[in-house]
Amino acid sequence: MPFEELKPLLRPNGSKIVLLVMDGLGGLPIEPNGPTELEFAATPNMDRLAAEGTLGQTIPIRPGITPGSGPAHLALFGYDPLHHPVGRGVLSALGVGLEVRPGDVAARGNFCTMDSEGKITDRRAGRIPSEESAPLVEKLAQIKIPGVEIEVRQVKEYRFVVVMRGEGLSPDLADTDPQVTGVPPLPVKPTKDTPAARRTAELFNQWIAEARKLLADQPKANCVTLRGFATDPELPKFDESYGLKAACVAVYPMYKGVARLVGMDIISFEGENPEDEFAAVAEHWDEYDFFFVHIKKTDSKGEDGDFAGKAHIIETVDAALPHLLALKPDVLMITGDHSTPARLRSHSWHPVPFLLWAPASARPDSQTRFGETACAQGGLGTFQAHDAMPLALAHALRLEKFGA
Ligand code: ZN
Repeated sequence: MPFEELKPLLRPNGSKIVLLVMDGLGGLPIEPNGPTELEFAATPNMDRLAAEGTLGQTIPIRPGITPGSGPAHLALFGYDPLHHPVGRGVLSALGVGLEVRPGDVAARGNFCTMDSEGKITDRRAGRIPSEESAPLVEKLAQIKIPGVEIEVRQVKEYRFVVVMRGEGLSPDLADTDPQVTGVPPLPVKPTKDTPAARRTAELFNQWIAEARKLLADQPKANCVTLRGFATDPELPKFDESYGLKAACVAVYPMYKGVARLVGMDIISFEGENPEDEFAAVAEHWDEYDFFFVHIKKTDSKGEDGDFAGKAHIIETVDAALPHLLALKPDVLMITGDHSTPARLRSHSWHPVPFLLWAPASARPDSQTRFGETACAQGGLGTFQAHDAMPLALAHALRLEKFGA
């Protein structure tokens, strides 16, 4: 439901909502008819919640579309990623902990290799390993362009991020990667004919010229290309959209960054295990209405193809869950942002298991275990991930009826 239509229905109360996201939770069986990672894992606490609550499965973006974690989280936060796109440059910057404020321009960068005529010979600089690209990123970080502040940070291998900060900048710029070899990189060109776009293009071209000077004698990577220019999309924030004071408990920068885009406070804490995260929630329980808790390692194990490892991470979350339940949330959602089946070693398009536990208002279904098969037969059915927030607000008794 669009935020503007939801707003008149909001009825703030003192209830507490928790969204627990195990990244890449959805999985696949290794053998036909075998269990998925979630079904293989011993999860007595989640199974009890499944029996008391209602199961379903979410579609993160659209059926068949494999999402990145950025858009998949925005969907869970209630923002249809197709209507609220966040630029690739911004997501990459958030992924390495670089802040992108409104008006900043972020871009993804690639190291590439150029011949003596200035034509690209390798668009990814031979996928130069991170150890070799790190000192090159340090060189780039020294570049100064008058009138703007620039931050550069390594992503991985041949990839880095640049954020330009200053007055009157515009992200309306075209990629400089020509997508083929044997031609020179493109200059940064404005995609809109505005003074800000022309000026920003000029500033990035100056930066690229400096970068090429610094890299001129490098054998493996003597040039750069930039793409995905973007700025903070200025999304509606959680407090105004939902009347919720919201906080994020996450270990990895990407998720804190996406949470910040929707106006959540970021809770800092020691440790990185589920019990550390739940302890951080407990410590700030009275200060917020909504907690987003992010568990990363389910996704990492899935991408490693480590079925048992992913199941084990799910078990550690389950074992720590009583700490969260002791706080007596009014609504607890346990889900993933997308599927990352160990069998595919990557994100996938499959629907994502979803558990809704709301003791005051849950309508139970016949499911008694938290798993993909049970979720596919659960009472919530299959729904868009961006409908989860209105559902949570309703179960928190925070929505008035629509119409008389
Ligand atoms: Zn993810």
